[in-house]
Amino acid sequence: VLPAEVRDHQPQLTASHGAADTVQSLTTEVGPRLAGSAGDKLAVTWAIAAMKARGLSNVHTEKVTVKHWERGVETATLVAPTRHNLAVTALGWSGATPPKGVEAPVVRFDSLEALKKADPASVAKKIVFLDVHTRRSVDGHGYGEAVPTRRYGPEVAAKKGAVAIVIRSIGTDHLRFAHTGETHFTDAKGAFPAGALSNPDADLLAHVLEARGEARMSLVLTPRVLPDAESANVVGEIPGREKPNEVVLLGAHLDSWDLGTGALDDGAGCAILLEAGRALAALSQKPRRTVRIVLFAQEENGLTGGEEYARAHAADAAQVVVAAEADSGSDRVVKLRVRGGPEASAALTSLTPVVAPLNVTSDGERAFGGADIWPLAALGVPLLDLEQDFSRYFDVHHTANDTFAQIDADALAQASAAYATVAWSVADSAASFGRIPEGEREKAKALASDKPATPAKK
Ligand SMILES: [Zn+2]
Repeated sequence: VLPAEVRDHQPQLTASHGAADTVQSLTTEVGPRLAGSAGDKLAVTWAIAAMKARGLSNVHTEKVTVKHWERGVETATLVAPTRHNLAVTALGWSGATPPKGVEAPVVRFDSLEALKKADPASVAKKIVFLDVHTRRSVDGHGYGEAVPTRRYGPEVAAKKGAVAIVIRSIGTDHLRFAHTGETHFTDAKGAFPAGALSNPDADLLAHVLEARGEARMSLVLTPRVLPDAESANVVGEIPGREKPNEVVLLGAHLDSWDLGTGALDDGAGCAILLEAGRALAALSQKPRRTVRIVLFAQEENGLTGGEEYARAHAADAAQVVVAAEADSGSDRVVKLRVRGGPEASAALTSLTPVVAPLNVTSDGERAFGGADIWPLAALGVPLLDLEQDFSRYFDVHHTANDTFAQIDADALAQASAAYATVAWSVADSAASFGRIPEGEREKAKALASDKPATPAKK
C-alpha cells in the first residue's frame, strides 16, 4: 500500500495551507482570466512559473486557439408597473442589444419545455423570462438539471421572435449576484441578447407578474465577439521512475469567468493539483508511472483546451491509465468513483483504504469526469472522480462573488491530500482501469457538447 513517506504526507498536507496560498496568488497576481483576455495570457505565464516553483518536470505549454467573447455594459430595469433596478449579467456568447437597450413587455415561462411549446405570437417582440430554480444538493445534480435552460433557452426564444431573454440565474444563493455561464447559438449570427437575473430579482419579477399580470423591462447588454486569440494548455509532470510512458492525468482549468477572480472556479482546482504535484515532486522516490498535470485553456466558454488536448494526444490516449479533473471548488473530497472497463472496480477497491483516513468513501456510483477530460473519455480513457461536496458551490459559481474570500483553506488542504495520495497510489501500482466501453464513449462526446458540469440524474 502506501509507503510511510506518502502516508505521513496525508496529515502534513491536510494541515498545510499551501493550496489556499496558491489560490491567493492566482487571484491577486492574475485575477479574472476569460479566454482571449489579457488575464488569460497572464495566467499562462503564472502557471508555468507555479509549476516550476513546485518542482514539476517537463513544464511546457501546448498552443490552443481560443474563441474570444467580451462582456460590455449590462443593466436591467423593471420600468412598469413599478420601477426597480435588477441585478443582471450577460450569458457567455450573448448577443448585444442596441446601445440604448430594448424595452418590452415580459412573458414568463417556468420551464424550457413550456417555452418550446409556446405559440410564437405570445413571445414575439417580448422579453422572455425563463424562470427555473436550481435545487441545492451535495452531489450537484440540481445544477445539471437546471443548466439546459441556460444553454438552449436563448436560441428557442430567439427563433420565436422575442427581442431578448433573461433567465433566473442557475445558482442556489439568495443574494443579488447574477450567475453567468455559457449559452449556445447554432449559428453565431443568430446570437441575441441573453442575460441572467439574480435569484432575488427573479423572485421579484415573478411576483410582479403574478400580482399585477404584466411587467415591462428595459435591458441593455453590449457584449462583443473579438477575433480568435492564442492561449495554451499548461502541462507539467512528475516523471515515472519505471514506466514514464504510462500516465495518470490530473486536469483543472486555468481560465475563469470575468465577473469575479475565479477563486473557486477553477483557481481551487488548479491549486489542488499544484499542491499535490508539489508534494509528489518532493518525495525521495518517484512513482513508477508518470503523473501529468494539465491546466486547460478555455473550459468556461468553449472547451477548446480540452478538445485540442484530446486531438493532439489522440495517438497516445491508450497510455493514459486514468484521468481525473478537479473543477468543483474548495470543499472537501467526499467520494471516490471510477468509470472504465471491468477492471475498474478492483482498482477502486485497492484505492479505498488509501483515502479512508481522509473520510473519503466509495459508493456504487460511477465516475462522471469533468468537461476538459470528456474528449479523452470519448477516446476510451477511463475516469476517476475525487468528488467534492457541492452543497455550497452553486451559491457562488460564475458570479462576481467568486473571490478568495470564499475559499475554505482546511477543506482545500484535505482535497489536495486526497489527490496527492490517490495519484501516487495509481501511479506507483500496476492497476488497470481498462477502457471506457465503445457504447459509453458516445455519451462522453454528448456531455462534452452539452457541458452540464454535474450530472442531471444519478
Ligand atoms: Zn470550472
